[in-house]
Amino acid sequence: MNDAGLRRSLLGWYARAKRDLPWRRDSTPYRVWVSEIMLQQTTVAAVTPKYISFLRRFPSLSSLAGSSEDEVLKHWAGLGYYSRARNLRRAALSVVADHAGVFPSEFEPVLALPGVGRYTAGAILSIAFAKPYPLVDGNVVRVFSRLFGMKGRAKDPSFVKMMWPIAERLMPRTNPGDWNQALMELGATVCTPDSPSCGACPVAKHCVAFEKGIQDELPEPEKYKKQTDVKWNCLWIEKNGRVLLWKRTNGERLLKNLWGLPESRHVDAEPGRLLRSAHHSITHHSLRVLLHEASLPHGAAIPPEAKWVPVAELRDHLVSSLWLKLISRK
Ligand code: SF4
Repeated sequence: MNDAGLRRSLLGWYARAKRDLPWRRDSTPYRVWVSEIMLQQTTVAAVTPKYISFLRRFPSLSSLAGSSEDEVLKHWAGLGYYSRARNLRRAALSVVADHAGVFPSEFEPVLALPGVGRYTAGAILSIAFAKPYPLVDGNVVRVFSRLFGMKGRAKDPSFVKMMWPIAERLMPRTNPGDWNQALMELGATVCTPDSPSCGACPVAKHCVAFEKGIQDELPEPEKYKKQTDVKWNCLWIEKNGRVLLWKRTNGERLLKNLWGLPESRHVDAEPGRLLRSAHHSITHHSLRVLLHEASLPHGAAIPPEAKWVPVAELRDHLVSSLWLKLISRK
């Protein structure tokens, strides 16, 4: 493998073909960090409008650190995996408390921030600080697997571990951020999971899988993960223009620590007329939700996990798109 030739081909292609994405226009540590956290488990298409509106509301790390968790969750609405938003705010508070509000530029302090792993630390340090830290994500695993003809499953931790030394070896002395982004860009736009566009690939002449014609066999298919069916009976309890919401605990299987409509197991109220039903998928769970009208028994006190919210303000509290599906048709 000619590492220098591979770098030249890929970096030249990236300079010509990279997508114009909002976080690439002004690569400050704060902007790169927010984009990288959003892009974990969420597509570029879904992240782009959210990133723009989030940055409009929280234009700086100090504005994020100075906001309440509910406010941050509200602006994260629709992106899912809400622990990412909580960690983002906790990390902003930590930068303010431990680094005088200046985003750290060394590996260990960046890695110590809540929600930041080796991949995200490498992305921030290489893109925002031009430091030669490698990164490995799903795109990079797929590209390396094909480029070097390596067999394994892309989500197998031992296979992923094998990729880090390769990423370190290939890291150029200059433009580490461009190099890391070029690898991921190739995986996202050319060396895609299904039907890679080898005919348009800038590194095809270096690619073992292409030479052997096995690009569709690498990486190996994931083991099938069975979906779990879940059914919720939720209650629409409305009184004087306000609706009862329930703060889901950390012990819930799904949508932990978020406000939602109460389930019938949460409150002592008989489900009445069926108002709506919806299907929703959350990480290997296929959720069917039935929304029933209900009322509390006369004189019943509401528990501390619940609160009344005016109908017009529900969207400020119900951040999961599951609830938005239900209440938008209410
Ligand atoms: Fe991927 Fe095909 Fe390029 Fe190889 S030649 S890196 S399989 S797109």
